[in-house]
Amino acid sequence: MNQKQIAIIGGGPAGLAAAELLSLSGHAVTVYDAMPTLARKFLLAGKSGLNITHSEDYARFTTRFGTAAAPLRPALDAFTPDDIRDWATGLGTETFVGSSGRVFPTVMKASPLLRAWLRRLEAQGATLRTRHRWIGFADEGYTFETPEGRSIVYCDAALLALGGASWPRLGSDASWLPWLSERGVEIDAFQPANCGFVVDWSQNFSDRFAGEPVKSVTATSETGTFPGEFVITASGIEGSLVYAHAASLRDQLLNRGCAVLTLDLAPGRTIERLTHDLKRQDAKSSFSNRLRKGAGLDGVKAALLREHAPERDRTDPERLAGMIKALPVPVIETRPIAEAISSAGGIRWSGVNEDYMLKALPGTFAAGEMLDWEAPTGGYLLTACLATGRAAARGIEAWLRR
Ligand SMILES: Cc1cc2nc3c(=O)[nH]c(=O)nc-3n(C[C@H](O)[C@H](O)[C@H](O)COP(=O)(O)OP(=O)(O)OC[C@H]3O[C@@H](n4cnc5c(N)ncnc54)[C@H](O)[C@@H]3O)c2cc1C
Repeated sequence: MNQKQIAIIGGGPAGLAAAELLSLSGHAVTVYDAMPTLARKFLLAGKSGLNITHSEDYARFTTRFGTAAAPLRPALDAFTPDDIRDWATGLGTETFVGSSGRVFPTVMKASPLLRAWLRRLEAQGATLRTRHRWIGFADEGYTFETPEGRSIVYCDAALLALGGASWPRLGSDASWLPWLSERGVEIDAFQPANCGFVVDWSQNFSDRFAGEPVKSVTATSETGTFPGEFVITASGIEGSLVYAHAASLRDQLLNRGCAVLTLDLAPGRTIERLTHDLKRQDAKSSFSNRLRKGAGLDGVKAALLREHAPERDRTDPERLAGMIKALPVPVIETRPIAEAISSAGGIRWSGVNEDYMLKALPGTFAAGEMLDWEAPTGGYLLTACLATGRAAARGIEAWLRR
């Protein structure tokens, strides 16, 4: 076979997934990464258990990618959540389905899986080069900054798998945006996704409750109503329930300048029941006592009502019950993208063909979070990164065979 030289720039899950298929096909694959070690974000994801995919009904699974569901579908169909579990098992990592349907390695970390994966890649002949930062194009080549100085890499095909723009200190700093824009690649600015929000807490509230979880609530935005929990921070809110609404809140802030997350602090009780129980409380007793005895609320939930329920609603049982069931928490802005779990935006779907090749740069492909899609937390992000990495690898093979 005529061995082709393939450069994979970015050694996160998307790049490594591509390297796996291409090295298995016998190509000369080199993975370049700017950082001293590979897949740092993948390892960090392992700190919270590595939610690698989701076990829900596959038709529902594929809807989680919003407007990108259609372009992503062929890649997902070719590497489904079941395939991911089999793949992990093949690397010695068994997985299990958690109570929420999320899938985790039984060891609840990423390092054994990553170690086995890198070993297999090297055994298949892939070369892994760390401390190689891609710094732009050089005519037909790719320029890297390396510990030995600058070098230019020429190859038969290249995959860019440089990640999005969240957690830049782990490597994906989106420095490539201008280099691709200058070459005519269509790109949308990155926005935070699965991010926290700033809320105008009183000093007293944030001093007292920063770090406190708010459990067993539901939250409503234009996305819908979901049960779950979130965390109060010094500047606002974060956590899984907030992330589930993050895209909708972010887009409302962008389009209308304001957005509200509406909380039901007592999802197990109807408004009628709450009104009835609050009416039975002595009107002269304190707000805290009436809340605790009439609605079973204290601590951070009672404090949230104090923060956001108008004074006049606190004395009227009907109004107070209404506030407990639908407390509006206005959010002011997203927390910075550097703190977000993931990012939205990136290379537009119109900028790549169905094989993940950049239309403006034939022979250069892109995969993973640097493409314009977003999804909630729940294993969808890693699934799509692995799936698009593999789809781009198949695209590269097709391009090399043409
Ligand atoms: C705290 C946290 C927890 C997460 N938990 C989960 C989870 O449980 N489940 C889930 O599905 N997802 C999770 N994610 C998201 C998931 O980790 C990312 O979506 C995924 O890692 C993106 O993969 P990628 O290969 O596209 O990019 P990345 O993983 O970002 O990899 C890109 C690589 O490119 C390299 N690179 C960038 N620029 C250059 C350059 N100029 N030259 C050379 N190399 C470069 C970087 O060093 C990096 O290694 C989490 C993210 C964070 C931040």
